[in-house]
Amino acid sequence: MTFTWTPHRFAGGALALDVANSVVLRFDPARRIDRYADPAAMDAFADAASLHCAEREQAQALAPVPPVRRSTFIGLREAIDSHFRAEATGEGTAALLARLLEAIAGTLRLSGADPRALDTATAHSALRLAVMAEPERLKICPNCGWLFLDRSRNRSRAWCDMAVCGNRNKASRHYYRRKEGMRA
Ligand SMILES: [Zn+2]
Repeated sequence: MTFTWTPHRFAGGALALDVANSVVLRFDPARRIDRYADPAAMDAFADAASLHCAEREQAQALAPVPPVRRSTFIGLREAIDSHFRAEATGEGTAALLARLLEAIAGTLRLSGADPRALDTATAHSALRLAVMAEPERLKICPNCGWLFLDRSRNRSRAWCDMAVCGNRNKASRHYYRRKEGMRA
């Protein structure tokens, strides 16, 4: 079965977070999958982001990252994840922010800030996130560990994607309740 970038994979609510979430189950070394490890999948991400990303208005018809810029782009992805993951848990540091800003600057230097390139668009998205007015909207999904931006009016979103992680969690809570009921 070939891998496809479904709308669920753009649940991050911002292009930079969707890019960070290309590593699935980051916290679990045994099951962690880097979807960018396959260059064809990494190229296909650009098209899918233009269709499904919450920032698609700023990310229209994105071009894939050329091979010579891939390692810089991966460096940007890792800096995005480290910084915003720490921010979401209140553990952000000046060093992580500095690393992110350096990665953004390096990416833009290399891409010539070409607005149609995926790496440029990701760097711009990361900058918007870094200065956003309501940083408490940045969250980590308790089921899958993805980063996401809670764009709901009352900031009540708990899961990256209610249909995927929320339902799974509801199902397991239901299971435990039943188990406890049986024991009683
Ligand atoms: Zn999730």
